[in-house]
Amino acid sequence: MAQNTVDTVPSNTPVTLLGLGTMGTALARAWLAAGHPVTVWNRTPARAAALAPEGATVAGTAAEAVAANTLVVVCLLDDTSVGDVLAGTDLTGRDVVNLTTSTPAQARARAEWVRARGARYLDGGIMAVPPMVGIPQAGGYVFYSGPRDVFDRHRTALAVPLATTYVGEDPGFAALHDVALLSAMYGMLAGAAHAFALIRKENIDPATLAPLLADWLTAMAPSVHQSAEHLRTGDYTTDVVSTLAMQVAGTPTFLATAEEQGVSPELLTPYFDLMRRRLAEGSGEEDLTGVIDLLLR
Ligand code: NDP
Repeated sequence: MAQNTVDTVPSNTPVTLLGLGTMGTALARAWLAAGHPVTVWNRTPARAAALAPEGATVAGTAAEAVAANTLVVVCLLDDTSVGDVLAGTDLTGRDVVNLTTSTPAQARARAEWVRARGARYLDGGIMAVPPMVGIPQAGGYVFYSGPRDVFDRHRTALAVPLATTYVGEDPGFAALHDVALLSAMYGMLAGAAHAFALIRKENIDPATLAPLLADWLTAMAPSVHQSAEHLRTGDYTTDVVSTLAMQVAGTPTFLATAEEQGVSPELLTPYFDLMRRRLAEGSGEEDLTGVIDLLLR
């Protein structure tokens, strides 16, 4: 018969949570539902009070909330609000996990700031929206970076609201991965916006284009692996199927089609300009990897 042991039963680490906006509230609910003792604080007290019937302990001040538990999760609007809120607390001996969206430089500076106050620091970048929190099959997760031992100590508790992906000791790496993925998303959405604009004035149901778009973007997405391999080896010509020369030759068709359809090419032209610049450098046998180097300042 299976035995319950301390090793197999995850301990319900008590969690302090500062910040009960849409995201913070979803996080608090996930920990409460999983049976973790949760102490909450929010600038606007009503949002904290709303969680009391669900079992949360409501602290009167941020300092009181920080004093309650070793694991202190912060989910505030921005880095400035994190500084404002933590400044009035005693962080000595605390493990601060900051899930507030920030830049890599802000995360590194905040890590130093927290360490100088006697605490350990993990940074997190949330790759999810609030309805995905606490629902593993929704696919949301959080990038974490900072000391590996701090991550390992709390990974079970941290994995309750959203899956965890650890990306390194540098506290700036979680924010960097977060922004890198979201930046790629905006590029993809920009392309989709142009595609919808092209058909907008025609007798084509956008709902029939949508699945075609989604399938095409999904089919093209694995090309990032070839780009990564090119960047890793420094040889941008290996296994190239569609050369830059061929693709640049095709760009007038895209621009003329936009013109014919009465659509501004403003989302496409910056990328096409970079492709042409790279071709002018004599890189016609490459694919599109060389564009990346043109972006570096
Ligand atoms: P909300 O705008 O819903 O909540 C902001 C929170 O920050 C509230 O608790 C607010 O308190 C608090 N706050 C703002 N300014 C201050 C301040 N000066 N002092 C003290 N508290 C302050 O944001 P979310 O909960 O949606 O987002 C929180 C973090 O999570 C952000 O960094 C966001 O980028 C990130 N995130 C959010 C996602 C989302 O889809 N919502 C997705 C991924 C990341 P009060 O209630 O008093 O206003």
